[in-house]
Amino acid sequence: MAHRPIRVAVVGAGLGGLAAAIGLQRVADVEVTVFEQAGQLGEIGAGVGLAPNGQRVLNRLGVLDDIRRVGATYDGPGRYIDTDGRLVGEVPWADSSGQYQTLGMHRADFVDVMVRALAPETIRVGHRLTAIDASDADVRLMFQNGESSVFDAVVGADGTHSVVRESMIRTEDPVYSGFIAYRGVLDAKNLPADWPMRNQIWMGMRKHFMCYPIRQREQFNFVGFVPSSRPLRESWSARGDVDELVAEFGPEWDPNLRDFISRIDETFWWGLYDREPLRSWSRGRVTLLGDAAHTMLPHAGQGVNQALEDAVALAIVLREANGPAAVSEAFRRYAAVRMQRTAILQASSRRSGTQLASQAEFENLGKRDAEVRAGRDFRRSFVFDYDAAAVADKTVNRMRHQQEGGSS
Ligand SMILES: Cc1cc2nc3c(=O)[nH]c(=O)nc-3n(C[C@H](O)[C@H](O)[C@H](O)COP(=O)(O)OP(=O)(O)OC[C@H]3O[C@@H](n4cnc5c(N)ncnc54)[C@H](O)[C@@H]3O)c2cc1C
Repeated sequence: MAHRPIRVAVVGAGLGGLAAAIGLQRVADVEVTVFEQAGQLGEIGAGVGLAPNGQRVLNRLGVLDDIRRVGATYDGPGRYIDTDGRLVGEVPWADSSGQYQTLGMHRADFVDVMVRALAPETIRVGHRLTAIDASDADVRLMFQNGESSVFDAVVGADGTHSVVRESMIRTEDPVYSGFIAYRGVLDAKNLPADWPMRNQIWMGMRKHFMCYPIRQREQFNFVGFVPSSRPLRESWSARGDVDELVAEFGPEWDPNLRDFISRIDETFWWGLYDREPLRSWSRGRVTLLGDAAHTMLPHAGQGVNQALEDAVALAIVLREANGPAAVSEAFRRYAAVRMQRTAILQASSRRSGTQLASQAEFENLGKRDAEVRAGRDFRRSFVFDYDAAAVADKTVNRMRHQQEGGSS
């Protein structure tokens, strides 16, 4: 019997929600509507490192060529640098095959490519979700603007402080890490002509700073991580004080870094939150994706990349769902495919942050440097070589064989 198409609502048009919507339209062939609280889309002034594992997903979703056109390639592996400018080791940038190398992306360009890949009128801005009423048959979404809509299934891609998650499971709030990030972009033309087109990470006591090229090398993304007792909810509108940033990285730091920072004229503050892995991601017809499911510190550069992996896995398991009645089982499978890997990366991001800021046992800089160098293999084989679509395909194929075996 032919089933009517499944109708899915995605809450949140961040990079995770947009990737989920593209996957659901192109791979799973379901009806998708994305609800975003903001009045208009777009991210301002910051970059993201698009790792080989994230690019592999975008290739499967058919958008990688457009992404490559707006991203920035690097001239080679990145550099870990000590406070005083001493080279410590290489930051991995490519997968084992060398086919995929990390790209520096301006977030606004990334969002733009993703939005253009969606069918017209998929996204409804100005819709802040306030409540969910889920039953065995469907899910009703209620919005602050007074509207409500009914769907077969809901994907919460609404970030660290997810309303979808809170409606579904009782859980501790994300924990403020004690660190904030100063973020922003700097035009390449304002830097010395020989500034390296690579990812560079300076490591110091309780602080670190990174920069890499974005937007076809026309700009550099920068992030300065410093401790702060002022917990900020992550927010693009929190304008940081450039003088305070300059003061944070004083005369003990590499003159090259201080030169870079002296050229910054605008920065934003972002509070860094962490959380332990959730015990479950899905309940009935509601599931989670991206930061809503696995908020992680940014030090492994994997938050967006994991959201992309979630998106393609979700699309592949939903493709197999036999109509709306099969959604809950598909969501259970999706969570089973994704939860262990993202939990490992949550822990790994936390540990990377401790290393890069020379904290705890890494106050012993010899140990820090050795572990930073040794992290290369994990990064390459566990993180970059992973093929989220292939893993999800294998899971659904196994399932199909079991069903066929069971029914013969
Ligand atoms: C300093 C820093 C550097 C980082 N660098 C990297 C990197 O290099 N590589 C990487 O992979 N990751 C990086 N990350 C992590 C990455 O930014 C996040 O993991 C990623 O943006 C999460 O995407 P998301 O779509 O899940 O959530 P979000 O980007 O938070 O998007 C959530 C969306 O949901 C909307 N929303 C929220 N609540 C509601 C509601 N109630 N109703 C409707 N809409 C709602 C929001 O407006 C938003 O558009 C970094 C993070 C930080 C802080």
